[in-house]
Amino acid sequence: MENNGSDRTGRRDEAVRAAVEQGLLRADAPIVGLLDVIGIRESAAELRAAFDAVVAPGTPVLHAFAVKATPLVPVLRLLREEGIGAEVASPGELALARAAGVPPNRTVLDSPAKTPTELREALALGIAVNVDNPQELDRIDALMRSATSRSPIGIRVNPQIGGGSIGATSTATATSKFGVALLDEGAREWIVGAYAERPWLTRLHAHTGSQGIPLSLMVRGVAETYALAEEINRRVGRRQVDTIDIGGGLPVNFASDATSPTYAQYARLLSDAVPGLFGGRYGLVTEFGRSLLAKHGTVVARVEYAKSAGGRPVAVTHAGVQVATRTVYAPASWPLRIAAYDGKGLPKSGADVLQDVAGPACFSGDLLAEGRALPLLEQGDYAAALDTGAYYFAHHYAYNSLARPGIYGFVPRGSAGGDGRVGEVAFAVVREPQTVAEIVAESGGAHASALTTLAPTASPSARP
Ligand SMILES: *Cc1c(COP(=O)(O)O)cnc(C)c1O
Repeated sequence: MENNGSDRTGRRDEAVRAAVEQGLLRADAPIVGLLDVIGIRESAAELRAAFDAVVAPGTPVLHAFAVKATPLVPVLRLLREEGIGAEVASPGELALARAAGVPPNRTVLDSPAKTPTELREALALGIAVNVDNPQELDRIDALMRSATSRSPIGIRVNPQIGGGSIGATSTATATSKFGVALLDEGAREWIVGAYAERPWLTRLHAHTGSQGIPLSLMVRGVAETYALAEEINRRVGRRQVDTIDIGGGLPVNFASDATSPTYAQYARLLSDAVPGLFGGRYGLVTEFGRSLLAKHGTVVARVEYAKSAGGRPVAVTHAGVQVATRTVYAPASWPLRIAAYDGKGLPKSGADVLQDVAGPACFSGDLLAEGRALPLLEQGDYAAALDTGAYYFAHHYAYNSLARPGIYGFVPRGSAGGDGRVGEVAFAVVREPQTVAEIVAESGGAHASALTTLAPTASPSARP
């Protein structure tokens, strides 16, 4: 069953109204990020159920959330409670996962640029590592000679099945920077040899999906990876590759509240196309990011001014490039839906008017939407950028030193086991709004005279 998202729409409308009513959104707090806790739990449950339905009983399955999609500790803790681990790709992301209490055996480290220190720490913790390239494998070899590790280790391959409609997020093109390019001359032989020489290489990894990639192409990427695992095991003469990490990359529907495609659809397509992957001979790791969080986040921003230019209405809001960087810089690839709310946080009705929804940054292209048909946004109204729970407000871009907005999770009170008053919404702080004092501190405030006192000749130790 596809979820048409009407419950989600209702929860969001209630949350926007309550955010205004409870003063989270106000004249001097003109932008917030909101996270739908029930929606996140539902997506996690859908993910688990989708793969439970296709794997043989007893198959080990780890769903590791790609932390980069929403790098917020409370979100990682919520997902942990929903049985979801973490896929990390930097020391920062690993620290977030650990702060959320995600255990090492539910954490996977992928990154194309792991330092020796990162690798040593991962192996010491027992975190799964997917090796990106031959030079990285050399580093692991050295570490494995000097210490033992519980880390399951695999190699990331790029099946080179081609890109999708968005070049910048296509990971499986012929020249992608990720993994070992499987179709390049000699690559397959090198991989089989690498496994033959290293009994501790027990996993195989590919991540070929992303926004703009059709499911059929993602399935081909997984099929190629499975075929390689079978070949490795056949040629080394033992069941050495015991787990296949199929990555994430399920695209998200940004055009309506409906969840489409669903995890269930993808899991069924995979099990039809690659039945051997689910027969119980392989454990499974997934690394979904966007599809777990995108539809559960909303940026709500106050309309500071409503004006007109060249005959077009322009709503100047507090949400722009700092919270919707991809959309502002690449609007054709990353269009966002905008919902209009009035000054009380109630959905606006009225005839659609073509208008621009602008952000606060000082460049003319800072537009959330251009020429969009919406009820006319007026001063004091709110504009909501929908489906922004992944890769948007959690990915602040510090243009114009605009502050990171506060992020709040919400649940309808009845469902939280509270007093059940209809229409009440409970909020929890996920991330405090950034203060201007913090902006100064993070912008070298403690080093104000660093450059004016830097002497051209004397070294610091030689200064009087
Ligand atoms: C970004 C990334 C993911 C998650 O991708 P989504 O499109 O957000 O699902 C998973 N695995 C790796 C290696 C990634 O780089």
